[in-house]
Amino acid sequence: MANRESRIMNLSKSRIMAGLQCVKRLYLRVHEPDLAGELDESSLAVIEQGQEVGRVAQKMFPGGVLIEAGHEELDKALALTTQVVAKGQVPALFEATFQHDHVLVRADILERHAKGNWRLIEVKSATDIKDRYVYDVAIQRLVLEACGFKVVPCLMHLNREYVYDGKQYELEKLFRIRDVTDETAALTKDVRALIREQRKMLAQAQPPDIEAGRQCTDPVTCEFYKVCNKPLPDGHVRNLPGLSSTKLDKLKDLGVELIGDIPRNFPLTERQKRAWECVQSGKPWFGKGLKETLAELEYPVHFMDFETLGLALPRFPGMRPYDQLPFQWSMHIHRKPDAALEHYGFLADNKDDPRPSFLKSLCQAIGRKGSIVVYNQGFESGRLKNLASWLPKYEDTITGIQDRLWDLLAVMRANVYHPGFAGSFSLKRVLPALIPNMSYDGMEVAEGTEAGLAWEKMIDGEVDSAERKRLRAALLAYCKQDTLAMVRLLEVLREA
Ligand code: SF4
Repeated sequence: MANRESRIMNLSKSRIMAGLQCVKRLYLRVHEPDLAGELDESSLAVIEQGQEVGRVAQKMFPGGVLIEAGHEELDKALALTTQVVAKGQVPALFEATFQHDHVLVRADILERHAKGNWRLIEVKSATDIKDRYVYDVAIQRLVLEACGFKVVPCLMHLNREYVYDGKQYELEKLFRIRDVTDETAALTKDVRALIREQRKMLAQAQPPDIEAGRQCTDPVTCEFYKVCNKPLPDGHVRNLPGLSSTKLDKLKDLGVELIGDIPRNFPLTERQKRAWECVQSGKPWFGKGLKETLAELEYPVHFMDFETLGLALPRFPGMRPYDQLPFQWSMHIHRKPDAALEHYGFLADNKDDPRPSFLKSLCQAIGRKGSIVVYNQGFESGRLKNLASWLPKYEDTITGIQDRLWDLLAVMRANVYHPGFAGSFSLKRVLPALIPNMSYDGMEVAEGTEAGLAWEKMIDGEVDSAERKRLRAALLAYCKQDTLAMVRLLEVLREA
């Protein structure tokens, strides 16, 4: 088969799924792979986490054999699979590889049952079933059945209700396995049609004309994101806060690209109208109720921020899949209006369970009086709730802390807008807009996910002491910046 023809014909499950997200994504993957962007550290960490879940899932099938062949070693993978399938005593295969009609699939787990029956199990690190996962299994089922296998297709995913006892995972409880025989059967025709359509599309001389949209980041960020999504001009309508896709489409139909060009009578929410007015005037807006809201604050005023790490697999007792593990906090305190600003912090610096020392040090620093300013109360309050369930002796103290929380994000949303927010109220966006000499630019750790990854690196023992020191300094600087940002923002609001 000629090179281009073979590229068009040879599909794999991951290519088909990429095409299901966006046909142009599939086209570029096949014909212009060099245009793909590099994966960032967070995406790599998500992949690594998924692989780790897959390895743990395999433990439920003792005696299973891994088909060890890289993605470039297709013939080896196919041959090894045939050999291992022929060994009747092997109870399961991991990464078994099959091909039919030029469609390649690798099955996470293929479990042998009596009388030539098999269970085909796709492992997902999510905590529930999504439609696209069923599609994924339907593709595998189609190929395996075409290769002569009798399979019961299943999805295996993490169970969010499972509570880890800190000793050994109870695999039967950590995972759920769902039979998706009926769901995949209902998709057989669709999958066949999809493969035909995708090949037809791939045979075209040019990529399909697809406009960038929600599909560029949903369900995953497309590797060609930068190819199709050029930077938006300042004041683009997408920078209106909370703009629905329906309104975006209406504006597109009207030929309106910039906020400043939106007609006066176009239906906008209160917050969107404010953004529209700010863009027209070029000035920030402060709500009339702001002074009254700020008067609620009681001294000593604390400014508090947590850093956490989201873990698909629970690491310490009492944790469930995807619980957030808190490992760092920062706090600035203003004891009186004219008092000097004080700073306190905590950063766990080894692999031990950080929760007891995190909470003990926090309770010591936070005292029993005064408001506690946070940026997004739902997050800090949720983490405090988790801590109360893990360390019940602190429950009353934690309830006291929760009662004192004061959400600066909610206050900002209701009372402040600046054209520089560009539709977002994230601290990273509002800070440089309202305080131009303060931003996260140039900081080594400048975002929550990065903080979690940096902390993992710092404690894992594989980096030298100089690197550890550097990561520690970056983490301390980042979390401190978050609480100092709230201090300075409040000063701006008080002067408004
Ligand atoms: S960036 Fe968006 S439009 Fe472009 S290929 Fe990817 S998903 Fe399709």
